[in-house]
Amino acid sequence: MLNIKKIRSEFPTLNQMVNDSPLVYFDNGATTQKPDVVIERVQQYYENENSNVHRGVHYLSQEATSRHEEARETVQNFINAASSKEIIFTKGTTESINLVASGFTKKFLNEGDEIIVTEMEHHANIVPWQMACEEKGAHLKVVPVFEDGSLDMEAYENLLSDKTKMVALAHISNVMGIINPIEKIIELAHQKNIPVLIDGAQGVSHTKVDVQALDCDFYVFSGHKLFAPMGIGILYGKEEWLEKLPPYQTGGEMIKNVSFERTTFNELPFKFEAGTPNVAGALGLAAAIDYISNLGLDEIEAHEKELLDYGTQELSKIENLRIIGTNENKASVISFIFEDIHHYDAGTILDQLGIAVRTGNHCAQPLMKRYGISGTIRAAFAFYNTKEEIDKLIVSINRLRKMFT
Ligand code: PMP
Repeated sequence: MLNIKKIRSEFPTLNQMVNDSPLVYFDNGATTQKPDVVIERVQQYYENENSNVHRGVHYLSQEATSRHEEARETVQNFINAASSKEIIFTKGTTESINLVASGFTKKFLNEGDEIIVTEMEHHANIVPWQMACEEKGAHLKVVPVFEDGSLDMEAYENLLSDKTKMVALAHISNVMGIINPIEKIIELAHQKNIPVLIDGAQGVSHTKVDVQALDCDFYVFSGHKLFAPMGIGILYGKEEWLEKLPPYQTGGEMIKNVSFERTTFNELPFKFEAGTPNVAGALGLAAAIDYISNLGLDEIEAHEKELLDYGTQELSKIENLRIIGTNENKASVISFIFEDIHHYDAGTILDQLGIAVRTGNHCAQPLMKRYGISGTIRAAFAFYNTKEEIDKLIVSINRLRKMFT
């Protein structure tokens, strides 16, 4: 069992008043709060260790390089990658997807090819593929979402063909919290030798990820949704794929030899890390991973499941409230709408009562279109949230409902 009181005392941002009420932070799908150990790790780096990596022979540079590479190994172990060469530091999920899409398009995509995404994708996992298709005269195919938020797997199977060159989809929907059957999706794609990219932006913080067991070809995520700093993220790619993809950006550490006639590129993972990396971010990410690993991912999942069940039960009792994404296979994210109150108005009033929820289309406009809505109110729970906070949400919703009726 997690000691939530102790955990909450380790997250300074959580312990503040907002609009005269103790902050209830349910916007964890957008970004998570940071524990002291992460903040201190970043501060320690800038106070004592700051130096550029892979460049200097001097003490600080060598130390920073070692810590940076240790952080890569921490990430490798966290997702059980076969080698640290398969862990590329990026700015975040968006950059990781763009890196893969850009290289893949240049090297492997041709006119008439197809790329499969799903109707529930975040724009970051739609637009790079859409632009790839436009560039090469390829086609984007979309797996539909059923009313309960689950994927139409029969439609997916029917979309897979000799023309399919890539399948790219979310592990967990940022809007609905639906957990996609990625094992099955990967297995079916691999039967036709099609690579699969998993957008794990909402995956890693809610569930254990083992990229070797999944056998995915790419798995991407952002540090800031995993209790780590902003501006650091991960691209995991199977070594064989990363070897085949061309560099994304050029300059700095990604280069081996340069002459005006020809340039050769560094080996993995450095081939994809042009310029000075976000060393403090990488160290903060490693500290966040150590922190949640110490808490225990099973314990985190169990606590979040309790919050999800309790939140679903209590929200379902409210009149004119509809939950979007009711399939049982869910992480601790609940999106809902009121039939008679605009999500923006609801979000504004909840904020006045000290409750931070996300409102809007959550960068998933095609999914909004699917449900015929313009946006939702999203409460995304992290392990530091409590049932008492959910009670406050319910009381506040009842208050706001009275204001509108
Ligand atoms: N994919 C999903 C599923 C997300 O939830 C997000 C963030 N909302 C992203 C991609 C983009 O992540 P980032 O802005 O950190 O690059």
